[in-house]
Amino acid sequence: MSNFDLPKKISILGATGSIGKNTLDVLAHHGGADNFDIIALTGMSNVELLSQQAKEFNAKFVVTADEAKYSELKDLLAGTDIEVGAGRKALIEAGKRDSDWVMAAIVGMAGLAPTIAAAERGADIALANKECLVSAGTLFKSIVEKGGGKLLPVDSEHSAIFQVLNRKHAPSLDKIILTASGGPYRSFTRSQMANVTPISAAAHPKWSMGTKISIDSASMFNKALEMIEAMHLFDTHPDKIDVVVHPQSIIHSLVSYCDGSVLAQLGEPDMRTAIGYALAYPNRIDLPVEKLDLVKLAQLDFEAPDEEKFPSLRLARQSMKAGGLSGAIFNASKEVALDAFIDGKIGFLKMADIVEDVLAKIPAKNGSDIDIQTIYNIDVTAREEAQLAVNKLA
Ligand code: NDP
Repeated sequence: MSNFDLPKKISILGATGSIGKNTLDVLAHHGGADNFDIIALTGMSNVELLSQQAKEFNAKFVVTADEAKYSELKDLLAGTDIEVGAGRKALIEAGKRDSDWVMAAIVGMAGLAPTIAAAERGADIALANKECLVSAGTLFKSIVEKGGGKLLPVDSEHSAIFQVLNRKHAPSLDKIILTASGGPYRSFTRSQMANVTPISAAAHPKWSMGTKISIDSASMFNKALEMIEAMHLFDTHPDKIDVVVHPQSIIHSLVSYCDGSVLAQLGEPDMRTAIGYALAYPNRIDLPVEKLDLVKLAQLDFEAPDEEKFPSLRLARQSMKAGGLSGAIFNASKEVALDAFIDGKIGFLKMADIVEDVLAKIPAKNGSDIDIQTIYNIDVTAREEAQLAVNKLA
């Protein structure tokens, strides 16, 4: 238990996913329903788990994003006074309900609107969802700033940088160095990678995560999204963001300064550390995670990423330099390509080809008049363009 105040009123967007479950585990370790008011929990297909979570944590409002699952969820919660909602509007309503701290852990672009709803009313946002920053970076940050809440990174790499980047030293920053495990295909040749299956791509060697982010890790699109996220989160020039492959996933990221100092955050790969830090910030809380044993570990390895094998990193740099709507185009085309790979319509290497093709075809508008509708519109256009590219290959 902590000896200082943690946020009391909590909402979890994406409670049934890997991050959502880990968040509830951290809350359970600190008293669960006795210590926290769970204002809203959301999920999509797994309404059985969502209803169990709602009962265990005595949630006030529970939402499935899938309207077809409404009656099933309602039946599962019959006899309780838990309010039930379904669909996009209800998800946004979950973001609007009056929690102090919101875990944004819906996967994909669907997470943007409910997270914005929470940010607008000034909740602290623990940000796991990548799309809020990748697709809507500048706009999303200005919404958080205007709302007055804190933006607390949950991605382990960004949490690491958040922990070691002293804002006073920002002008002396040399590089932000994101570590990458290299995924399951680090030692594969490109021709071996051409034939891999979604099941093997989803088997991450170090981290236990949702399917989509695991496959994105295998293609290094996850690292590409993280580069764009880091640029927005830490107001950093694209040239100051590097990636190094570190297969043990013990160093979660590093910051190097102009005087030669390099600061890193280390720990066993366990998302509860980053979630706990976002919950307790600026304090630290006890967590049920394995402690790092450096002697047992003995060795840490590093290598440069191979951008021939993983063009996603080069494409991220291109997108960061283009700025404006480029992140939204990058993300939307990546999501379509990823779904097509999961559905067996295209091969693993074709995902990067599709993103490259769409980035080349759609101009990335820049400027201060980019609003949320502009982002949704470009998201639709990029998805249509990516779908055409998928159809040509399928
Ligand atoms: P999961 O796939 O495990 O969970 C996703 C959550 O979102 C589930 O609650 C799921 O519901 C819900 N969901 C899925 N589709 C929709 C939709 N269209 N509308 C509303 N809700 C939806 O993902 P993770 O927990 O692994 O990741 C969540 C986010 O955090 C992602 O953006 C990921 O990139 C990011 N992240 C994850 C990390 C990790 O270690 N897992 C690390 C860093 C960032 P249901 O399961 O009921 O269908």
